[in-house]
Amino acid sequence: MVRNSWWWRHPTIVFCIGLVLATSGTIISLVLEKRGIENSMIPLVVMVLIGGGFIVFSWIVMEYDWLCPKCGYRTYIRHRYCYKCGSMMYAVKVEPSRCPNGHPIERYMNFCEKCGVRLYEEVEE
Ligand SMILES: [Zn+2]
Ligand SMILES: [Zn+2]
Repeated sequence: MVRNSWWWRHPTIVFCIGLVLATSGTIISLVLEKRGIENSMIPLVVMVLIGGGFIVFSWIVMEYDWLCPKCGYRTYIRHRYCYKCGSMMYAVKVEPSRCPNGHPIERYMNFCEKCGVRLYEEVEE
């Protein structure tokens, strides 16, 4: 699957579809069981499996950033086209930033929590 199809651009909706599938499968099975129908658990198993697949996929997709291959613009907002240059955008795996000693760091950190290295120069006034 191309990493910019509808599924890659709408992980939240994919997640909700998965949730709805799993829930409705459960409800159908409960109704069937109440009516004494045989094999009433089949819809539950099938739809929880399919819905679970949707949910797992949406989790994987949310680990990806959104990148313009032409101008390098990178964002977490999943527009089909780059609003800086109009090229088609793609999902790319998020690589964690690292401190000079190789520890993973978050954007908000001023110091590396593992080795105490200063990550941003202090602005002198
Ligand atoms: Zn671009
Ligand atoms: Zn460090």
